[in-house]
Amino acid sequence: MNWALIGASTIASQYMIGAIRSYPGSKITWVVSGSATRAASYAKDHGIPNATTSLSDALSDADVGAVYISSTNEQHKPQALAAIAAGKHVLCKKPLAMTPADAAEMVGAAKAAGVVFATNHHLRASGSHGAIRALIADGKIGRVLSVRVFHAVELPAHLRGWRLDNPDAGGGVIPDITVHNADTVRFLLGEDPVSVTAEMAATGLGQGVEDSAMSVWTMPSGAMVFSHESFTHPFAGSGLEVHGTEGSIFARGVMTQEPVGTVELVTAAGASAVPYAPTSLYETVIANFNALVQGQPAALATGTDGIKSLIIAFSVREAARTGQRHVLNYADAQ
Ligand code: NDP
Repeated sequence: MNWALIGASTIASQYMIGAIRSYPGSKITWVVSGSATRAASYAKDHGIPNATTSLSDALSDADVGAVYISSTNEQHKPQALAAIAAGKHVLCKKPLAMTPADAAEMVGAAKAAGVVFATNHHLRASGSHGAIRALIADGKIGRVLSVRVFHAVELPAHLRGWRLDNPDAGGGVIPDITVHNADTVRFLLGEDPVSVTAEMAATGLGQGVEDSAMSVWTMPSGAMVFSHESFTHPFAGSGLEVHGTEGSIFARGVMTQEPVGTVELVTAAGASAVPYAPTSLYETVIANFNALVQGQPAALATGTDGIKSLIIAFSVREAARTGQRHVLNYADAQ
């Protein structure tokens, strides 16, 4: 399958170009950018034969089967709708759009057109997260009482642009990282939060958008979730803990783009390291996407999963903005 990259982005150059090319028979034949100069240099740097500022140039190429959208967040919706209208399959970065309703429109359009639409929530593809999910599903920690996710990192210097100062491009740590925590918790527990309370702040980097947030979620099972995300923490590390009636899971360094980190299970029998396969997260995402195109069932994040993670993140922001407990409404994900 031939791919068009929509967005001359860091994430594509760091991970997705290699991941797409790792899949047998896949080629990247276009890059679409808002700048002709950047498009040309990006294409040259990455050996992509065609560079353009016109989305329709790439979409009118009948040999392009799929697009990978990793532009700034406000562009995802119009670009996805155009790609869907051209009959292309769509792999879209999180957050899918600027609002859950916009994300629902994208997913609905893909369904109506009969093309595949998936969300690049890469953490579902992590061996560590798969191992944690299996421990919970197998009852190794009993009934889940609580989850703590800590995803407070230091935003690298080369990404300190629109994320920190441009709400119109979808900046802020909540659309950037809370969506990942939301998808992770949904993936691990298999349930969606009922309500959230939250606080957010600009603690050093954010200008007009939040750079830190903390929230507490209530799950239908009664489990409680604590989620912490930030752009300003150089040494906090990332991870998650799942505590149950029969045991606890401690995962360190696992909220990341690399197949790294440790998972430990602690029960009355003692503590033991949990092994997992350290496979590339993004190559797994691409293999799953190709399986969807071939008609196989979804194993990773669908479009609906992308809508739900956005609903949860926006509910966290709303709870923090109002200072009120926010009850979630999943109507856009129906
Ligand atoms: P970048 O800031 O690198 O890229 C976003 C856009 O900014 C690009 O499409 C490009 O616009 C423009 N741009 C890039 N570099 C420059 C530059 N040097 N000068 C001027 N403009 C530039 O963002 P990311 O790659 O970090 O994120 C892109 C999307 O991917 C976002 O939606 C983000 O949320 C998501 N993301 C998802 C991740 C995941 O693992 N699921 C991880 C990281 C990001 P143009 O295309 O017009 O050239």
